[in-house]
Amino acid sequence: MYRILGKTLAIAVLSTLASLLISFAFVPMLGGKVAGAGLVMTIVCPIAISIPASLAHFYQAEKLRSANLALAQARDELAAAYARLQHQAQRDALTGVLNRAAFMAELEAQSRAGVHGGLLFIDVDHFKSVNDRFGHAAGDEALSAIGTVLAGLSRGNDIVGRLGGEEFAVFLHQASPERMLDHSQTIREAVAAIDLQTPAGIRIALGISIGAFHCAPRFDPVEALAAADRNLYRAKSAGRNTVVA
Ligand code: GH3
Ligand code: MG
Ligand code: MG
Repeated sequence: MYRILGKTLAIAVLSTLASLLISFAFVPMLGGKVAGAGLVMTIVCPIAISIPASLAHFYQAEKLRSANLALAQARDELAAAYARLQHQAQRDALTGVLNRAAFMAELEAQSRAGVHGGLLFIDVDHFKSVNDRFGHAAGDEALSAIGTVLAGLSRGNDIVGRLGGEEFAVFLHQASPERMLDHSQTIREAVAAIDLQTPAGIRIALGISIGAFHCAPRFDPVEALAAADRNLYRAKSAGRNTVVA
């Protein structure tokens, strides 16, 4: 409001000065004299005209400025909400890692980009008995802890996802077959070291089996996952809590 009044006052002063200048320049040329009632009108007219006109103009301009600001703010909020929604749509709600669809899409993108790497198909061992012995909530907590471990061990362009149930997948970006095996063992040991306890203080031991498959550039994501799954089956057959590549 003060800004509008200030600008209006400035315009009134400028209009009056302009009016005086014009009068003193032209009236003598026309044979007249700026004085008395003429001088009063020279001052009063610009004030009387400029104040309401300026007030109306600056008030509308201010309204437009506020509307533009609100619009920009709404646009920013919308963009942030869209980004949040997009992030949520790609994430598994329980573990925070990518959901199956998002994982496969990322895997596809890495394949298209021509990278190679290690694909790990991870399945929690005897998870049904974890649920049966400690309850579904404890099972959920275990899955969440495993998701955290997998995400924590990933780096750069690695991809971590939950394929469903107690099955996870990891793609190790540009990993050699050796690093793939090393990293698989690191993951297996990190999961085994998860310190999860029931409220009664009983430790919930977690083990995982990993089927690993090394993907050459331009690999077929579905084929690669099936190959890793076949190795996972072999890891299960070999007694679980192990890695097969
Ligand atoms: P295996 O070593 O052969 O993999 O045995 P398993 O018991 O892990 O495998 P199985 O397929 O028999 O059981 C998987 C269990 O995972 C059964 C299901 O109740 C449980 N499960 C799947 N999704 C969830 C989940 O979101 N939360 C919890 N708590 N349990 C889940
Ligand atoms: Mg399973
Ligand atoms: Mg299992």
